[in-house]
Amino acid sequence: MKQQLKEELPSKVTGPCNVLVVGVGGQGVVMISKVLSTLCQQQGFVVKQSEVHGMAKRGGSVFSHVRFGDHIYSPTIPEGEADIIVALEWAEGLRWLPYLKSETGTLIVDTQQIVPPFACRDRRVNARLGYVDKSLKEIIEQIPNSMAIDAVDLATDAGVPKAANTVLLGALSTALNFDPEAWKAVIEDTVPPKTISGNLQAFESGRSRSLALEQEIPSESYPDKSDATRQMPIYKPRLEITGDWCKSCDICVRFCPERCLRLDKQQIVELFEPDLCTGCRMCEWLCPDFAINVHLDTEHTIESGK
Ligand code: SF4
Ligand code: SF4
Repeated sequence: MKQQLKEELPSKVTGPCNVLVVGVGGQGVVMISKVLSTLCQQQGFVVKQSEVHGMAKRGGSVFSHVRFGDHIYSPTIPEGEADIIVALEWAEGLRWLPYLKSETGTLIVDTQQIVPPFACRDRRVNARLGYVDKSLKEIIEQIPNSMAIDAVDLATDAGVPKAANTVLLGALSTALNFDPEAWKAVIEDTVPPKTISGNLQAFESGRSRSLALEQEIPSESYPDKSDATRQMPIYKPRLEITGDWCKSCDICVRFCPERCLRLDKQQIVELFEPDLCTGCRMCEWLCPDFAINVHLDTEHTIESGK
């Protein structure tokens, strides 16, 4: 079985295989590497996995190295040696690009952008963010084996909005020649029972999207924002507050730089001055109960002033 797989494995990579999974806290980086590691072990490979969690529970960088093959010694992937990078967040993906094999490496990246609070130094609404502004087209043209996927949208369509990581697992499965049924069996054993169906649907969505992208000319699949008319999106912050999860601790209220949050009569947090909110995400990051999600809806675009 192992020998057969080894012969089939290099659909795009040859063993020993190095897969780097990167993102920010709360996105499910570790779940991807756990599923991949388990699957590789089941197929008879030697597997080494190492992971580093970012500071705090959400928002900090998280990355995981997975290496598998006949003999694996170091658990970490040297720079320039990753066969595949799976990035759950756009800027994190770009940050780790030096680790990708220059000629043959595959980049699988979610188009989701999570702008850290420290990128919001200018707190005026719609101020320019200190966040990477390279366009998809620029990156895709640089890396022949690359695919950018709206994983969050696909996961939402599957009814499990938080399963963007499983969508990316589906995309990853097209770069490694393991049987899709084997991937699904591991996913079933890994995710909470109530979410199995949605996660399997998310996995299939990721596979389908990835296979469809392989048929397209990548650079024609993404809008070009790379020339002198580069545009910056205008964001309209929108807070999604899950009142049942709010424990009235007041942390977000005290730390909100714009003082636009307060506790209502039921001691549940509310955004009482929405026009002041800059979308800095400080409240989302600091809430110990995951009661706030900040969405940066794109209204339209303006010239960046470059
Ligand atoms: S409500 Fe949240 S996102 Fe808006 S300014 Fe305050 S801390 Fe930032
Ligand atoms: S930090 Fe979270 S739990 Fe605390 S008041 Fe704000 S929303 Fe509620």
